[in-house]
Amino acid sequence: ADLLRRIDELVRLVPDYPQPGILFRDIMPLLADADAFADVIAEIAGRVDGPVDLVAGMEARGFLLAAPVAVTLGAGVLPVRKAGKLPGPTAAQSYELEYGTATIEIHPATVPAGARVLVIDDVLATGGTAAATVALLERCGAEVVGLSFLVELEALRGRDLLSGHAIDVLLAVS
Ligand code: 5GP
Repeated sequence: ADLLRRIDELVRLVPDYPQPGILFRDIMPLLADADAFADVIAEIAGRVDGPVDLVAGMEARGFLLAAPVAVTLGAGVLPVRKAGKLPGPTAAQSYELEYGTATIEIHPATVPAGARVLVIDDVLATGGTAAATVALLERCGAEVVGLSFLVELEALRGRDLLSGHAIDVLLAVS
């Protein structure tokens, strides 16, 4: 309860960013608080059920959570990048945005067959990014053992795109 209160205090609300009408949750103040950041990493890692081989983090804020969680769990880290950032060979997955499409990429050579992968991002919004990440990992032969988010924007119903997967969220907001 105390950690939840601190997350709530340290995630800054930014109206009309990056577009008018969007209420953006800025996690940078939380990352900058040494104790809160350490507690968040320990909490995310502590809630993971069973062994994990790789922690996949979504570019870019997901990287900042995935790497310390991976070290805590004794797992490797798998950066899920925006298209065009990784040298080949890559595996790619496109998904729909409100306007247009986006593409993410990973290095399939770093995903052993049957690897148990935990997916991490800072915010679950519409779920498009997370669902594309799950699809990409599964196509590459991984087993997605769960997804963890710092914040869930419940009203956007991102969970609906992730049915069948274990989802862990520290702070759910409407
Ligand atoms: P989705 O694909 O679920 O709609 O959007 C999730 C992606 O957009 C995540 O990678 C997340 O970092 C980013 N995102 C969407 N809304 C917010 C927000 O309010 N705050 C932050 N920090 N990231 C957001």
